[in-house]
Amino acid sequence: MTTLTGRLADLASGALLGTAQITGVSRLSAGFVRVKLTAEAFQKAAWAPGVKLQLRPQRGRMALRTYTPVDWDATRGAVDLIGFTHAGGPGAEWFRRAAVGDACQVFGPRRSIALRDLAGAVLFVGDESSVALACALQSVTSNASYVFEARDPAGLSQLLAGLGIAERVAVVTKAADRTDLLRQAREVAAVGPCALVVTGDAATVHAVRRDSRNWAPAPVQVKGKAYWAEGRAGLD
Ligand SMILES: Cc1cc2nc3c(=O)[nH]c(=O)nc-3n(C[C@H](O)[C@H](O)[C@H](O)COP(=O)(O)OP(=O)(O)OC[C@H]3O[C@@H](n4cnc5c(N)ncnc54)[C@H](O)[C@@H]3O)c2cc1C
Repeated sequence: MTTLTGRLADLASGALLGTAQITGVSRLSAGFVRVKLTAEAFQKAAWAPGVKLQLRPQRGRMALRTYTPVDWDATRGAVDLIGFTHAGGPGAEWFRRAAVGDACQVFGPRRSIALRDLAGAVLFVGDESSVALACALQSVTSNASYVFEARDPAGLSQLLAGLGIAERVAVVTKAADRTDLLRQAREVAAVGPCALVVTGDAATVHAVRRDSRNWAPAPVQVKGKAYWAEGRAGLD
């Protein structure tokens, strides 16, 4: 990228995006960082569990990366994000380097998965990128079961327990055939009617949605969103 293009990207971003300050950083585990962003504009923003916030992780480029607020303090205009720092690009790098006092350009919040629309039992299927959404779901219902796939299942289980997601949770090793993940999800779905929320790897979201067509009872509601896809940057 030329310097001129980079400067134009900075100018355009300055006009289009809002500015937030990093007011808290907590390194939760080897692969996860929690960041608190504070901005006056957040005090007036329309917050609902499951919204998304986009941030611009690099100067000189327009590219945005998408994250899920765990919770939102409208009085202080503060929002917490949890980033998976082993995702492969500038978003992950931004979380690794985040430091209190740094400024950050943001876009949103905007609607993504309307968790408050869910009624009754919920089956939540996700991966490392879905941890923040799982936390947001906790603020909506205690009637949820969680099935995660992860490269480091023990590490993710420990992280989830630390975040208060310790019961009705299964974390399986991420595998190309997704046999364990689908089996665990089917077992939960067989207990009784539930709404299905599935996010994370695009290939997994597709596989779970397809498999759920044969579940008995069928999910009463399905909310699915691909958060990332192998070999594709900034999917959103
Ligand atoms: C609505 C929405 C909400 C999201 N909320 C969160 C959230 O709260 N926390 C969070 O950590 N992520 C979240 N994500 C996912 C996150 O936006 C993507 O993982 C994003 O691609 C990370 O950006 P990056 O710059 O690190 O990697 P990119 O530059 O986008 O991608 C670089 C490479 O890394 C790979 N990659 C990207 N993400 C992952 C991953 N998770 N695991 C393995 N490989 C990956 C890509 O396939 C690509 O090959 C959300 C996505 C969406 C659409």
